[in-house]
Amino acid sequence: MIKINKNYLKLESSYFFSEISKRVTRFQQSNPNKVIIKLGIGDVTKALPPACIKAFHKAVDEMADDATFRGYGPEQGYEFLREKIVENDFRARGVDISIDEVFISDGAKCDSGNIQELFSKDIKIAVPDPVYPVYVDSNVMAGRTGKFNQDRYQGLIYLESAQENGYVPDIPMQKVDLIYLCFPNNPTGATATREQLSKWVAFAHKNKALIIYDAAYEAFIRDKTLPHSIFEIPGALDVAIEIRSFSKTAGFTGTRCAYTVIPKQCVAYDETGHKILLHKLWLRRQATKFNGVSYPVQRAAEAVYSLEGKKQTGELIDYYLANARLIKDKMLALGYHCIESNNSPYIWVKTDKDSWDFFNFLLEQAGVVCTPGSGFGRCGQEYVRISAFNSIENVKKALANISEALSGQDC
Ligand code: PLP
Repeated sequence: MIKINKNYLKLESSYFFSEISKRVTRFQQSNPNKVIIKLGIGDVTKALPPACIKAFHKAVDEMADDATFRGYGPEQGYEFLREKIVENDFRARGVDISIDEVFISDGAKCDSGNIQELFSKDIKIAVPDPVYPVYVDSNVMAGRTGKFNQDRYQGLIYLESAQENGYVPDIPMQKVDLIYLCFPNNPTGATATREQLSKWVAFAHKNKALIIYDAAYEAFIRDKTLPHSIFEIPGALDVAIEIRSFSKTAGFTGTRCAYTVIPKQCVAYDETGHKILLHKLWLRRQATKFNGVSYPVQRAAEAVYSLEGKKQTGELIDYYLANARLIKDKMLALGYHCIESNNSPYIWVKTDKDSWDFFNFLLEQAGVVCTPGSGFGRCGQEYVRISAFNSIENVKKALANISEALSGQDC
């Protein structure tokens, strides 16, 4: 008899996103003439930068000729891309990463979901609340949690992020072995200072713990005082893994390219307390289960680091950040609390109402789709996430509709 992995039965169903789309469809069907503006999902809306498209086309043409055709690529990714990553994303910031510490992949989602395979089943895990759900679900699947009960899985330590701590969680009182951090944060948009990250790095050293640092939104950091990488913090190379993505940096959500950095000095421990290099384990894992990202996609990603690529991706991010600023300024003017800095495509709005009620209100009265905060965890119950990924025209229209709907309304 073929038996299932019973941990999958513990997973909360994908009720949340299907419920959003059900409510939007129902509303659209009963209001066919109403224009609905979607500021809900975290997907980019603008085309790939021309520099990436040019490199993409050129690489596809190479694949059409026997003389330049490429089959399987190197398992860690092509050196031409890893060199550019090291040079631009790390050495330019004074971080000494070598190219064989970079692993190219087809997504930060896969990497952040797969990395837990390297660790023992009985480790203690801390996740942020609100949280990018992949960190939690991948550990549920692996059997590292108990049941789902009152919005939380038993056995996980939830690091609460709220207005009081500026949405940067405090160091836990108890010992944990694995910590997921994400800055700029999805969904809150919070960023972490050097001092805050230094505390996490010190905590990881003290507890022989590991930090998985998801920096998928790094390109949105505009505040020059903020670190872009956890490896800018002294001592982090021993205790952290960093995950980055081209998805939001350069509009690659449908093209698929990301990378993970595992420093060679970064360790976990075996049963007897001996140090084991995580780099070696991940290399072994990837070589077994992954066959790399396609050559044209890696060439397109390489073009992000060309002169034109940097200019064009900078403009792309500026475009979304301008939308984010409009959203934030409007919600603040309407009397809602949200983070005031502008280093993220997401605005986490404190509604002081049930997040589904506020979602319904915006949908029905303003024709605007946001994401109810409760989908990201218990701490999101009175929040909604509004995304800047749309055209500026749509964002302006959505904000005018929200203003109008809120004037004189009890919400
Ligand atoms: N990490 C965070 C925090 C995200 O919000 C997302 C996507 O929304 C990802 C990772 C996934 O990125 P990718 O498209 O590279 O899989």
